[in-house]
Amino acid sequence: MSSRTSALAPMIDPFGRSVTYLRVSVTDRCDFRCTYCMAENMTFLPKKDLLTLEELGRLCSAFIAKGVRKLRLTGGEPLVRKNIMFLVEALGKHVAAGRLDELTLTTNGSQLARYAQQLHDNGVRRINVSLDTLDPQKFKTITRWGDFSKVMEGIDAAQKAGIHIKLNAVALKDFNEAEIPDMIRFAHGRGMDLTLIETMPMGEIEEDRTDRYLPLSELRATLGKQFALADIPYMTGGPARYVEVKETGGRLGFITPMTHNFCESCNRVRLTCTGTLYMCLGQNDAADLRTALRASPDDDHLSSAIDEAITRKPKGHDFIIDRTHKRPAVARHMSVTGG
Ligand code: SAM
Ligand code: SF4
Repeated sequence: MSSRTSALAPMIDPFGRSVTYLRVSVTDRCDFRCTYCMAENMTFLPKKDLLTLEELGRLCSAFIAKGVRKLRLTGGEPLVRKNIMFLVEALGKHVAAGRLDELTLTTNGSQLARYAQQLHDNGVRRINVSLDTLDPQKFKTITRWGDFSKVMEGIDAAQKAGIHIKLNAVALKDFNEAEIPDMIRFAHGRGMDLTLIETMPMGEIEEDRTDRYLPLSELRATLGKQFALADIPYMTGGPARYVEVKETGGRLGFITPMTHNFCESCNRVRLTCTGTLYMCLGQNDAADLRTALRASPDDDHLSSAIDEAITRKPKGHDFIIDRTHKRPAVARHMSVTGG
């Protein structure tokens, strides 16, 4: 195949799945230290190993040329990367030109008040905000460094700017279990969907994840006693399965990597801030795109390296959390690939 044809060929993996969704972790750093995500004393990548924002933009454009229609910025905390709006503006141009259907991000909300309007100006219409509790004290406990009021200001600012928010909460046994009904009412009362996520065994942290692991099948059964939950076919192209909560009229999603394998319909790959491409969140295999990117100013090398990586996209992950598996399934933290 000539490099020109290769550049334009859609990315289809060995299992026939089209890759149309790119998640980009723009930094591994964060202004929070959520206990299930990071150790308090994290060693981050040396700044010299990071791709520049220009390089990240070029990589994203190469993926868009190869059929990516949805792009999510994540991290670490994407909004703490210096000058991040430079990349948002570059990507917003792809949205304006119709080359990208959606530009979005996953954020802890701490910097949203500052950036909400600029995000909207550059075509961002929906974002995910991670929020595990509505109690400011508990918020401090779980994020270690976070300020609840800042996140609330961020949510207000984003809604005011016209950005639709979905809240993501990690379901944690004996931490926010009892609070989920209030979180449902809060989210739906403000026109936001809420998605619950099971903890995944990624990266060494101080605590034992089995102590906090809460199967969502259990939580759903408990919620079903208080709310009428109706299965709905709503799909966002992601792994969440949704129900409608009759009492609130809002949507509640469940992401259950541990109890239900959702890999069959996986359409995504994950790029890190060093130019490493992970073809699966739950596997270690990765491709180095930085070398190909820097090898030449045109994208032929890069395009071939992407094609080669896609041939290695695995069928699925093998996450297991139980007491016999003491080590995380993958050693890297979620903040490297951004979830
Ligand atoms: N800092 C941003 C945020 O918190 O939204 C983006 C990156 S964060 C790694 C993305 C999502 O992964 C968050 O919703 C977070 O709660 C979730 N997360 C982090 N570690 C996790 C783990 N071990 N299991 C399940 N979800 C995790
Ligand atoms: Fe930071 Fe997000 Fe990880 Fe919390 S979950 S430590 S906010 S990257």
